[in-house]
Amino acid sequence: MSNSKKHPQALVIGAGVNGLTSALCLDKEGFKVTVVAENLAPNITSVVAGALWEYPPAVCGHHRNEKSLDRSKEWCITSYNIFAQLASKTETGVRMRPVVFFFKRPIEDNEREYNKMLEFRSKVQGFERNSNLISENHINTNQELKDAYTFIAPMVDTNMYMNWLLQQATNSGIHIIQRKISGSLLNQEQDLKAEFGTDVIINCSALGSIELAEDNTMYPIRGALVQVENDGKTMAPVLKSYCMSFDSSTSDQDMIYIIPRGDDRLLLGGLVEPDEWNTDINLNNYQPVRDILERCIDFLPILEDANVDKQEPVKVGLRPSRKENIRLEAEPNSSIIHNYGHGGSGVTLSWGCAIEVAALAKTKYHS
Ligand SMILES: Cc1cc2nc3c(=O)[nH]c(=O)nc-3n(C[C@H](O)[C@H](O)[C@H](O)COP(=O)(O)OP(=O)(O)OC[C@H]3O[C@@H](n4cnc5c(N)ncnc54)[C@H](O)[C@@H]3O)c2cc1C
Repeated sequence: MSNSKKHPQALVIGAGVNGLTSALCLDKEGFKVTVVAENLAPNITSVVAGALWEYPPAVCGHHRNEKSLDRSKEWCITSYNIFAQLASKTETGVRMRPVVFFFKRPIEDNEREYNKMLEFRSKVQGFERNSNLISENHINTNQELKDAYTFIAPMVDTNMYMNWLLQQATNSGIHIIQRKISGSLLNQEQDLKAEFGTDVIINCSALGSIELAEDNTMYPIRGALVQVENDGKTMAPVLKSYCMSFDSSTSDQDMIYIIPRGDDRLLLGGLVEPDEWNTDINLNNYQPVRDILERCIDFLPILEDANVDKQEPVKVGLRPSRKENIRLEAEPNSSIIHNYGHGGSGVTLSWGCAIEVAALAKTKYHS
């Protein structure tokens, strides 16, 4: 690979949270970066995300592949520490706020949950396990919850954050082009390298990888969040996130997460519908979306007084999921590096993945 030029050049495909974060990390490593994306914020999944940081396996997006799970743990802790720093700049839209996870059984009864708690509790700020959290937070007693823990977690206002990432990219001189790339990347690798004068190609195209990486193990998991007002006018503002963790006694569709967004909105989730591509669902035309609202009110009764946001009552998006979980690797015998398939954890893992992408790109360029 050529290393005679002053700056190595990278082409990033995709301008979601993973594409833009990778672009920034490549820029920091000395690459001259171009980003090509079919869609930019706000018309991408990364803006839909509830964007609550969570240690894997997350409530939504259970990892089945142990190798991927181990790597995700490192990626998410790296991201946690970077988000904690970004939270000091209000313009990023990142906040560090308490989250409470509730359980229907003592945590020890679920080996996976118990090990997860033991693993991450010393790596986050303010961890505390205490079943009094159930009554202190006024959770409906009909939920028959038995256990709970809390810690301080990054929560990201993705409207602000994606704009901030875009701004950081343009401020760094990263060139952003809105355009769709069609067909297999491998088949057009030399053409793309010639057109953009690049040494490496980073594929952050999420579900676009079905076509670009010819990866038919990628599939969407449709999700939806009901957005309600949280400005203190009709109910006391909710400033913590609440999640009811998935275990064998609950189904995916029973999951509950309640996440404050910025200063005056609250997101209520969620929906977990594999292989559903249609994003035209709302409170009027789809009962499972209405069920989200009912389930959350039943869980946290003060939400009865919340008004649904008039401008954007529901956010719908397709989590870019992959059967073997995230693909972050160099394609053999090529200049392509893949970074896609983050499912329900793309924001949580973004910085950890992007730093690894930039390190891989450096190795590829110098090899
Ligand atoms: C309801 C919901 C709740 C969620 N909650 C959370 C959460 O709490 N925490 C969390 O961490 N994550 C959450 N997620 C998951 C998160 O949104 C995703 O994992 C993340 O946004 C994926 O980012 P990405 O950059 O990989 O993909 P995307 O945001 O989908 O971006 C992909 C980019 O690739 C471009 N692209 C695709 N194909 C092509 C092509 N052929 N040519 C050119 N460009 C192309 C697109 O235009 C876009 O710019 C949630 C998702 C949903 C739907």
